[in-house]
Amino acid sequence: MECAKCGRKLKDLKSIERGYGPKCWKKSKENPDLVDMLREGDTDEARTG
Ligand SMILES: [Zn+2]
Repeated sequence: MECAKCGRKLKDLKSIERGYGPKCWKKSKENPDLVDMLREGDTDEARTG
């Protein structure tokens, strides 16, 4: 399993579940639109529009 963004090997179970390393995950949270298509169906927030 590798980070979907930078391709680094993921060691943590959490990271593997996310599909991102800790750093990329943080960035993806800051810019959700960037990963919206990658992690479809994994949103815990209701989206409108
Ligand atoms: Zn990464």
